[in-house]
Amino acid sequence: MTDPVSSKSDAQPILPGATLGVFGGGQLGRMFALAAARLGYRVHVYSPYADCPAGQVASQQTVGDYADLDAVAQFAQDVDVVTLEFENVPTVATDAAARYAPVRPASHVLHLTQDRLREKRFLESAGIPGTPFAPVTSDAELDSVINKLGAPAVLKTTAWGYDGKGQARIDSADGAAAAWQSLNRQPAICEQWVDFQQELSVLVARSTTGEIAVYPLIANWHEHHILDLSVCPWPTLESVADEAGEMAETIATNLDAVGTLCVEFFLTTEGRLLVNEIAPRPHNSGHLTMDACGCSQFEQQVRAICGLPLGSTELVAPAAMANLLGHLWQKGEPPWEVSLLDPAVRLHLYGKAQAIAGRKMGHLTVLADTPQGAADRALAARNRLMGQSQPDATTLLVT
Ligand code: AMP
Repeated sequence: MTDPVSSKSDAQPILPGATLGVFGGGQLGRMFALAAARLGYRVHVYSPYADCPAGQVASQQTVGDYADLDAVAQFAQDVDVVTLEFENVPTVATDAAARYAPVRPASHVLHLTQDRLREKRFLESAGIPGTPFAPVTSDAELDSVINKLGAPAVLKTTAWGYDGKGQARIDSADGAAAAWQSLNRQPAICEQWVDFQQELSVLVARSTTGEIAVYPLIANWHEHHILDLSVCPWPTLESVADEAGEMAETIATNLDAVGTLCVEFFLTTEGRLLVNEIAPRPHNSGHLTMDACGCSQFEQQVRAICGLPLGSTELVAPAAMANLLGHLWQKGEPPWEVSLLDPAVRLHLYGKAQAIAGRKMGHLTVLADTPQGAADRALAARNRLMGQSQPDATTLLVT
């Protein structure tokens, strides 16, 4: 499959000096724009929100709705290539943009990853193991899937799910109907609850030329379904590194995706790898690549969509990333200087004005001699921000 481009060639590399368009104005777009600027590109952000994190650092922003196809067309005419930082950009918008500039990744990738059922079926067809599941669109289907998979299980709406949104756990067969009701009986999939020993992710970049670069495995810990801590490398994952990397490469190739992608996995207690989901864009768990790898996931996205050779994914040193969520602002602006008392701490803030609980406001990265050392120092720096000297719950998970 090729990009449905009408007016700009995708055979030649897009060189520094060109303008890169980004759908979405969040932190992923901001870090993409910073990486692109360093390489000498201009970035034009398209987002419904003024003064958004990406718009603050881009050379240009269009404030527009994704449904405003005239504004989208104007935006696409002004740029040399379009990418995205948010996978739920409506495909009517990416289709409209593709009439004027290559869109990478293309609409067919979004169409697939915007729907959990389509994504699961794609993984099955690619021979990639995933969590056992079945679709739920009626009470009869819900009964039958609970009979088949048993409880506990989890219902996930097929559309618009992220960070645990649109999900309801089913603890026993009796609670299945109420769980679906809590999701307003939207079309869903029901997944078996996985007894995992570890969550992990693999970032992979694929260029317009078909070149692929795979990053080292990253171990992830979540709190309330939101990523809390990522560490790379992680000792218990060594034995599955090759297998996970190969699966990520197969997924990127079979999707015919161009850009940076993330594949999230569960490593079950029996040692099996199961794919949880695919994000067709850079990912929160890959933020540590900015400080810890030869080429960050964001620079890699720039290189991939511009048809430049991909950069090194090699890890320079063990690294950990701790997220900074909105609740840190409970008592006002956190005392940033105390997080930096450890000179190894790198502070990344996203320029968001409103700190809502659970909102991703920034992150801390630490490089250290060992993965555990990096994790401990990242968590200690975050604890200092909260006025705590004791390890928080996540430290207990890591040890
Ligand atoms: P998701 O939005 O599907 O990535 O889910 C967010 C988080 O919920 C995951 O990272 C897991 O921690 C948890 N989760 C989701 N699905 C399952 C499952 N089938 N079994 C166990 N935990 C799950």
